[in-house]
Amino acid sequence: MRQVFADHGASRGLALGRARVRLSRALEVGERHVPAAQVGAEAQRLQHALDAAREEMRALREKLQGALSDEAVEFVDLHALLLDDPELIQALDGLIRQERYSAGYALRVQRDRLAAVFERMDDPYLKARLDDLDHIIGRIHAHLYRREPAPRSTAGEVLVCDNVAPSELIQLQAQGVVAVVSAAGSPLSHSAILARSLYLPLVVGATEALDRINDGDVLMVDGESGRIVLDPDAADLRDYRARRQQEARERRGLERLRSKPTRTLDGTDIVLYANAESREDMARAHAVGAAGVGLYRTEFLFLQREELPDEEEQFLAYRDAVLAMGGRPVTFRTLDLGADKADRAGLALANEDNPALGVRGVRLSLLYDEVFDTQLRAIARAAAYGPLRVLVPMVSCREELLIVRRRLRRAVAAVRRRGVAVEPPPMGAMIEVPAAAIGVHGLLDAVDFLSVGTNDLVQYLLAVDRNNDALGGLYSPLHPGVLRLLAHVIGAGARHGTPVAVCGEMAGDPMLAPLLLALGLREFSLHPANLLELRRAIRDCDLSALQARADKLLQARDRAAIERWLQAAVPA
Ligand code: PEP
Ligand code: MG
Repeated sequence: MRQVFADHGASRGLALGRARVRLSRALEVGERHVPAAQVGAEAQRLQHALDAAREEMRALREKLQGALSDEAVEFVDLHALLLDDPELIQALDGLIRQERYSAGYALRVQRDRLAAVFERMDDPYLKARLDDLDHIIGRIHAHLYRREPAPRSTAGEVLVCDNVAPSELIQLQAQGVVAVVSAAGSPLSHSAILARSLYLPLVVGATEALDRINDGDVLMVDGESGRIVLDPDAADLRDYRARRQQEARERRGLERLRSKPTRTLDGTDIVLYANAESREDMARAHAVGAAGVGLYRTEFLFLQREELPDEEEQFLAYRDAVLAMGGRPVTFRTLDLGADKADRAGLALANEDNPALGVRGVRLSLLYDEVFDTQLRAIARAAAYGPLRVLVPMVSCREELLIVRRRLRRAVAAVRRRGVAVEPPPMGAMIEVPAAAIGVHGLLDAVDFLSVGTNDLVQYLLAVDRNNDALGGLYSPLHPGVLRLLAHVIGAGARHGTPVAVCGEMAGDPMLAPLLLALGLREFSLHPANLLELRRAIRDCDLSALQARADKLLQARDRAAIERWLQAAVPA
């Protein structure tokens, strides 16, 4: 019978397929003890299951090598590391040998102990790592009880599960799975990040759907809105076909824009940069004709590992990014760790009462002289291979910029002493802190460019945590205060002759392009997957008509008025 579930979209795309339900409830093993004489054999049984799981990960890694980005392969490596973790192995062995638990029960007890630790963590990023742990425990468990091979998902299926691990997503897509519906997970999880980069539709938070859907049911999944239709009727199917055709038409139309300029109807050229870190992103940025990379989040190099990347490793990563863009500038944002981005090496402070207002971004870099200088030297060395810029995150005052500028010059001088002929690269500030936005006049002569990080600026300006689902619609850039502040920053940059870009998610939303153009924005930086759509939206805009209506936009008193302005701005 037709039913509709409204859950959370985590990776956009429309899919129609048969459900394959997979529950890891098998882990609900009851308490079982083994006789003293069988303890050794039980420990060995666990050992074999661990070996088999490791072999499986090794084979998977081999298969993926070269086929996917380093970021994707890192997920597999993370799971392989967990499987080799001596603490996990010793704890399991102890539970079997000392408590005489069955291997399955030991696995469950240890999983629950670790889960309790993860659940107490405040950091949503670390909390989301419980998914990785569950995935690994599930793999060991499957080998422990495996009598027949686990059912393989097949082409045309929608995987419906309580949880999905990043490394699985890659496999699933290769097998032809068309979408994933998961009860657990969040748009912040690694799985969601990876699903988006694989263009695999993913819906999370689907607990009720998981209870109602059975193997073989037909599902229509919308990874953007999070809507799932179980047993779609004729009207749903018609709608699905129409939307797919529409999508295909749009894709073809967009492809034609690859080599077209980003020019408004009345002839003003707009600069579109890409937000890119992985090799895939760079290739996409190139393919869609991005003007360069406007935001390269260097902290991604630091997030997944326990040792800090040294100067050489960072240099190679930055150099390759510069080479990949073939002469178009790459903007390296210096380390933006802290708050919701905790690294495993422990640079980000663990016990701050208010981490979003704590030691993050440039504040953290200025706390660790050697780490920061190493990064600046690595960037300076990469400058020998092509144009690059340095972007400083979470700036709140002019003094920070003056210090970074001095440090950057020193790093360049150190590199030059080694015989590498480089000039100090242009340096810019992220505008994310309201005081930096309001007092932007004090920063202008200390920078070569500005980039507005609306993701953080909106959260700080509205006092709305960007990661807190409970605050729902309160987190929105469509607030009169946000628009006025953006107009203020963009206007100050234009009067001073300093380029201003927006690199937060807002810049990637084609619906908001008329609004940002009306506020005076001429440079956007966004994920390359959205770049052609944004180009099309901008090419449909009449800039002078938008400018004529800018005052009205700035007079808007609430979100409804801003939305009405936007509706009137969209060409019929
Ligand atoms: C922002 O805050 O808008 C931004 C681009 O930085 P991040 O999302 O990495 O904090
Ligand atoms: Mg930010």
